[in-house]
Amino acid sequence: ARREAAARSSGPGRTADGHPVALLVNLGAAHELTAAAAADSEGVGLFRTEFLYLDRAEAPGAAEQTAAYRAVFEAFAGRRVTVRTLDAGADKPLPFATAADEENPALGVRGLRTATRDPQLLETQLAAIAAAARGSGADVRVMAPMVSLPAEAAAFAGRVRAHGLALAGAMVEVPAAALRADRLAEVCDFLSIGTNDLAQYAFAADRTLGALAELLDPWQPALLDRAAAAAGGAAAHGVRVGVCGEAAADPDLALVLVGLGVTGLSAAPSCLPEVRAALAGHTLADCRRLAGLARSAPDAATARERVRGSLRTAG
Ligand code: PEP
Ligand code: MG
Repeated sequence: ARREAAARSSGPGRTADGHPVALLVNLGAAHELTAAAAADSEGVGLFRTEFLYLDRAEAPGAAEQTAAYRAVFEAFAGRRVTVRTLDAGADKPLPFATAADEENPALGVRGLRTATRDPQLLETQLAAIAAAARGSGADVRVMAPMVSLPAEAAAFAGRVRAHGLALAGAMVEVPAAALRADRLAEVCDFLSIGTNDLAQYAFAADRTLGALAELLDPWQPALLDRAAAAAGGAAAHGVRVGVCGEAAADPDLALVLVGLGVTGLSAAPSCLPEVRAALAGHTLADCRRLAGLARSAPDAATARERVRGSLRTAG
């Protein structure tokens, strides 16, 4: 039993019946790097690059970006690092990348859309990522935030590959992208569900408003339906689909997400041991049953109660 417990607390994520689930860390600031690299994970599932761009009048140059990315890639040599390109706009406004006069910035030119407004921003970033990746020893992939259309994902993947980077992905944060994830999966190498924004857009509820917490609850069955659509669309093309929003950090919800077909979970390093232990204690069939329970609930609170009740009964 002691050996089993040890197996649960380290190593690659897998369910009790051996179904692999990649366990990865989210990384969003230079000072988090040491703890992130020390965590027992398969690598970085979401490297938020905004920290390099915040609080400045101009975008950082290629050399500065390359050095910053290189430090991360070297710390994760032998593991994967999923870099997200600049996600400016809405809750992350930047004077040089986003317009100050948008009436609805969350619905404005943000995420990958800023690359249409200023293609050079993306080009400089991809060049820096590619330069930093060369010889770093890390398995570097690049994904775009706020993808809405398959054509946007295809254009992005084309730019990523033009820089010699092998794997290009799209985040699923917009309901339209979740519903048509199969089309996204046709043109990219992986998908990653951002549950924070997907909840915001599925429920038309500003993610920064505490007063709307109930609508933004990641247990909302309508959000789970969208995650299921994304997972199904990805599976149709044999493409892997992770979750990198806050939902992945809740061990009970992680089981549900795996039951929906999610193949990787990325969260703060401190959350991974509990998620790993939850997976090790349940089979894929258990996860699917829990996912069914959650999706059939009328609301988030009931979904959470039903799943937690079932987990308690099962012991
Ligand atoms: C998300 O939207 O769920 C996500 C992971 O991205 P961010 O929180 O940085 O918008
Ligand atoms: Mg997001």
